[in-house]
Amino acid sequence: MRDDTETGLSLRNRGVVMIGSFGKLLSQSRPLALLSGVVLSSAIGIAAEPTRMTDEALELHRQSFVFDGHNNLAMQLRKRPELTTDSVDLHAPQSKLHTDIPRLRQGGVGAEFFSTYVTADSVKKGTAVRETLEQIDQIARLVKRHSDAMEWAGSTDDLNRIHKADKVSALIAVEGGNAIESSLVVLKTYYQAGARCLALTHDDTTDWADAALDKAKHKGLAKFGEQVVAEMNRLGMVIDLSHASEETALDTLSLSKAPVIFSHTGAHKLAPHPRNVSDDVLKAVAKNGGVVMVNFYSGFLSAENVKAYEKRTKAAADLRKSFKTDEQFQTALVAWLKDNPLPKTSVKDVVDHIDHIGKVADFDHVGLGSNFDGVVSLPQDLQDVSSFPHLTQEMLNRGYSHEQIQKVLGGNAQRVLRDVESIAKSGSPALPQPAITSAGGE
Ligand SMILES: [Zn+2]
Repeated sequence: MRDDTETGLSLRNRGVVMIGSFGKLLSQSRPLALLSGVVLSSAIGIAAEPTRMTDEALELHRQSFVFDGHNNLAMQLRKRPELTTDSVDLHAPQSKLHTDIPRLRQGGVGAEFFSTYVTADSVKKGTAVRETLEQIDQIARLVKRHSDAMEWAGSTDDLNRIHKADKVSALIAVEGGNAIESSLVVLKTYYQAGARCLALTHDDTTDWADAALDKAKHKGLAKFGEQVVAEMNRLGMVIDLSHASEETALDTLSLSKAPVIFSHTGAHKLAPHPRNVSDDVLKAVAKNGGVVMVNFYSGFLSAENVKAYEKRTKAAADLRKSFKTDEQFQTALVAWLKDNPLPKTSVKDVVDHIDHIGKVADFDHVGLGSNFDGVVSLPQDLQDVSSFPHLTQEMLNRGYSHEQIQKVLGGNAQRVLRDVESIAKSGSPALPQPAITSAGGE
């Protein structure tokens, strides 16, 4: 249930039973159609003109470093028995995925944050840490199997070295603070295992941080949440506030010594969904030096789409109540979704968010966070990792300078990573580690 938010089924904040996500449901039932065609064929509204690439845009893109803040390839591979981490050939075109090596090259991608994800239920079951470590290992193995084209990156030095070798940097992110099971030792273990980013929450409020789509329990960050922020600063781990509540975001922005990211988020002013950030937060990000990496999921791109997304969420909840078995419910939901597609979006909608964030926070604080392989409804000319040049073209069309475009494509994200590293190196004092209590102690 990783992409419930992005695909329309985050229900717990609305007081209804949590159910399977559209993303999971759809990709399991009709993966090929949904990842490669349905968005286009079933979306409503008038299609925008296809992006026409100019030589100037192609050349500028070729010279740029694209740093994508959020990719869920690892989750897709876990869901698909026919495409496992140890069997999938990313050198070959993968029609069921948004990501493969030929398209990464076509998209001029320099770095991807590949994300792990565990459900809040896994914490209750006691499997969150094992599942997260397994996923970190899966990403590492996947990257190693394709080492002629991509390499794991743990620092900006790595990014530079890998870029010079004409390969893609694969960074590892952990999505959802519940994965640390309220332990700074677990957090440190993830860092040591190769993760360089943690999203403080996913859709569920954790024991120490409020989420955007759940009930607030802590008025932002609880005391332990403050320790997590300090420890991430100390380790040199990027703080991701993409799913955090406004209060959590503002608390973190005022506390963190290092810049933060929102790895896949938009501007609330344009699309009033709680996953998007307000102008107040944007101004705080500018002060912090961080980056809001604009999400491509259609449901969060316009006010019209947010309404349609909310309608989906309600319909799913109603259908859930009407059917006894999960199978009946899923069949009914697939039919409903087919009849009620999200309104069409295009690259222009994404650049509208870049525009807004650039105007409110400055273009030094905007980036890209595609959410490829985590969602199904995408803008018509941003369908997979080969599409990034379309953003370059649209930004050029709007009169952005080359420098601004290169910052948005990846320069800003690289700067954040560098600053996070140098603040860690400058040695914020180590926090006391949790005391080890002996069994049967006093
Ligand atoms: Zn997400």
